[in-house]
Amino acid sequence: ATAEKFRSISPAEFFYRNKEIAGFANPARALYQAVRELVENALDATDAHGILPNIEVSIERDSVKQYVYRISVKDNGIGIPEKYIPEAFGKVLFSSKYVLRQTRGLFGLGAKMVILYGQMTVGEPAEIISAAINSRRIYSYRIMIDVRENKPIIVSKGVWPNNTGWHGTMVKVAIEGDWSRAKQKILDYIKRTAIVTPYANIVFKTPDGEIYTYLRVTETIPPPPRETKPHPHGVDLELIKTMISETKAQRLIDFISEEFQGVGNVIAERFLTKYGFDPSKDPKTLSKEELELLVKALKEFNEFRKPRADHLSPIGAELIKIGLNSILKPEFVDAVTRKPVVYEGHSIIVEVGIAYGGSIQPSEEVVLLRYANKIPLLYDEKSDVAWKVVSENIDWSYYGIVFPAPLAILVHICGTKIPYKGVGKESIAEVPVIEKEIEEGVRQVARSLKLYLARKQKEEEMMRKAVT
Ligand code: ADP
Ligand code: MG
Repeated sequence: ATAEKFRSISPAEFFYRNKEIAGFANPARALYQAVRELVENALDATDAHGILPNIEVSIERDSVKQYVYRISVKDNGIGIPEKYIPEAFGKVLFSSKYVLRQTRGLFGLGAKMVILYGQMTVGEPAEIISAAINSRRIYSYRIMIDVRENKPIIVSKGVWPNNTGWHGTMVKVAIEGDWSRAKQKILDYIKRTAIVTPYANIVFKTPDGEIYTYLRVTETIPPPPRETKPHPHGVDLELIKTMISETKAQRLIDFISEEFQGVGNVIAERFLTKYGFDPSKDPKTLSKEELELLVKALKEFNEFRKPRADHLSPIGAELIKIGLNSILKPEFVDAVTRKPVVYEGHSIIVEVGIAYGGSIQPSEEVVLLRYANKIPLLYDEKSDVAWKVVSENIDWSYYGIVFPAPLAILVHICGTKIPYKGVGKESIAEVPVIEKEIEEGVRQVARSLKLYLARKQKEEEMMRKAVT
């Protein structure tokens, strides 16, 4: 027998070999995923920082190689400091979003997957042009990714003066795509993005030369998400070790009350006493057994305050109604933002919108608009918890709806930890507390539709009586 050959691979190589799990399974899916990752980044760089987004997306087909598409996405966001540009786009798992904050991105992967896929299929370097806020220069980098080493290769670099005070980012990348098969998904994606960002200008130029424009209909942006500290119920052994290695606290009591949310001095003291820890002990001197005990105790103790939700950034019922009205042009619309609930030590907020009639085409099933942290989810609908709720848990006839019906339901889940079923972030697992929230939310807006329909029917009957 021959000897086994051992070696390790870099994160870039891992995703190079397993591009499917990041959503790049075939040219059609890749084109959709590329647009999505770049638009997500553009929105994270704008609305999450209080900037009204102006986003231009364009896809062009190469005139010679018909399978090659050039995607460009330009935003007016915060830009990227020059020194981080190469790694932000050339090193897999490099991100500014590894903090506890509600963002669209979270794996430090999206932009790199687009570039990696382009590199595998077309082989041109990606181009990034960016100016951070107040930067006196605009930088452009053409980069590729060294897959074995997981680091950027800078092909060329340009600098020019920023005379107009522009800030933002433009990313251009060529990938193998399949527009005819991806078209509908991409159009849906842009439209569904527009529904939940009525405060954005979004322009989309297709390879066919069509231009889709979604103009801002309100200047209200949801309050930007803030960074938060971990809640004691969400810790594990690894996290607690990292936190201890980074803390300035020299006593256990300070560590517990300063590094976690929901823990004041009094509670910290009561907690430590209950589980027999010495409050003045230096956390860095805890033994392995003590650490294990501490984690168990943190998860179990039930006097901590509930995880806070004020760092989350729901869309808000008003904006959801504005968005549904302006894009779907229904006859009736309503929305609700539910109170925060807790999932594994993280707060989650569920929002539900409903739109009925008007320009919505009747169909045999509910038109379900799913979102997680403001990202539209388009694939794997039938395996998503929200689909289970609207198709199995709810009896629509109770609400006066008989299919085919012109009914759209919007479900938005936001939080610092979302139970996605995969890194492609396309569907959400059936976590009971989330399922219950969605169901309650749907029932709430469905009741309000039921009332509206009953009132309308009554008015019509009165009209008929008045006429006869
Ligand atoms: P993620 O979005 O999960 O962090 P990405 O690979 O998509 O991972 O992006 C890496 C990092 O590059 C981001 O965390 C962000 O700091 C930066 N970045 C990417 N696109 C933009 C953009 N349009 N504007 C500002 N920063 C960006
Ligand atoms: Mg991203």
